[in-house]
Amino acid sequence: MRLLPKLLLAFLVIIGSGAVVVAGTAWLLAPVAFGEHLGVMARHLGPDPRLAEDLFAGFRRAVNLSVLVAVGASVLVALAVAVFVARRIVEPVEAMGAAAQRIAAGRYGERVPVASQDELGELAKQFNRMAEALQRLERLRKDLVADVAHELRTPLAGLSGYLEGLLDGVLEASPEVLGRMQREVHRLQRLVEDLQELSRVEAGQVKVQPVPTILREVVEGVVARLRPQGEEKGIQLAVEVPPDLPAVLADPDRVAQVLANLLGNALQYTPPGGRVDVRAWRVGREVVVAVQDTGIGIPREHLPFVFERFYRVDRSRSRRAGGAGIGLTIARSLVELHGGKIWADSPGPGRGSTFTFTLPVADGPAGTGG
Ligand code: ADP
Repeated sequence: MRLLPKLLLAFLVIIGSGAVVVAGTAWLLAPVAFGEHLGVMARHLGPDPRLAEDLFAGFRRAVNLSVLVAVGASVLVALAVAVFVARRIVEPVEAMGAAAQRIAAGRYGERVPVASQDELGELAKQFNRMAEALQRLERLRKDLVADVAHELRTPLAGLSGYLEGLLDGVLEASPEVLGRMQREVHRLQRLVEDLQELSRVEAGQVKVQPVPTILREVVEGVVARLRPQGEEKGIQLAVEVPPDLPAVLADPDRVAQVLANLLGNALQYTPPGGRVDVRAWRVGREVVVAVQDTGIGIPREHLPFVFERFYRVDRSRSRRAGGAGIGLTIARSLVELHGGKIWADSPGPGRGSTFTFTLPVADGPAGTGG
């Protein structure tokens, strides 16, 4: 049974019971009161009983008529009110039902009007908020699929070209050709690994376990790991973390991951002979960590976007280097999971870049960083 008839029925039950009570009261009590009054009047009217009976019958008719008219009028008024109220409830509910159906069919732009300030209005607002969230997720999903397809196409086209050349005998299976093929395979592998990590981070599956951590140990661990890469390129790598820096409340593995990404980028985008500095200092309740390089820099207009998924300043250069533009997106998520912020600065192309992030200061005693 639909809502409108149900509501109408409820109203009719209320009206009906009201009418029964009114009529019952009138028919039971009024004659008693009138009879008493008639007894008093009989003294003035004389002994003729027909006169009293006549009066009584007239009174009954009057009472019946008034009760009928009153009940009829109130039924009509109540019906009108019931229809009005029921409509105001039923119409928005029906509109939301229809919109939900269209959203389920893939039309994410659907919204419902917010017609009142009551619970129904609030429901409509929440419904619209939900539709917006769904629309945003759908857009992200579409973008992701398009981006991934785009990223896969390039190395696959490369590999397929080499294979064709080998099969046709145009290319020889020389170590150089095989090496180039291997690089394309590595690029695919890295892309898949990065995507996996990104999806885990974005799905909230990556949990950080913040413990009091000595940042210096984490920084030194990462720098030691990447130092050979810097030496190979002739880049000087320096660390400046004061020994009295307070412990941070952070997951040492995740902080190492962020640092490795920033340092890796700095080494990648800095030409031989350059310099990379890792510094940390305290500002209030936070520790600030900065990775500064003397590399190719980032044009001002690109700065706000470098943390976005698949964003690369120079697509061809970064692709040659094997980057998919995911590392900084993961780094930002990890820093934010710690309650920190991350940002990029650069005076311009060719003048180096600085990537900075913050971590909260720990209150308790510090453990050892990993
Ligand atoms: P990628 O894997 O391509 O390096 P990231 O998300 O780590 O992806 O970086 C995104 C883009 O930001 C890079 O492609 C590059 O254009 C730019 N970038 C990152 N770090 C630096 C840096 N230290 N110097 C100059 N450009 C950088």
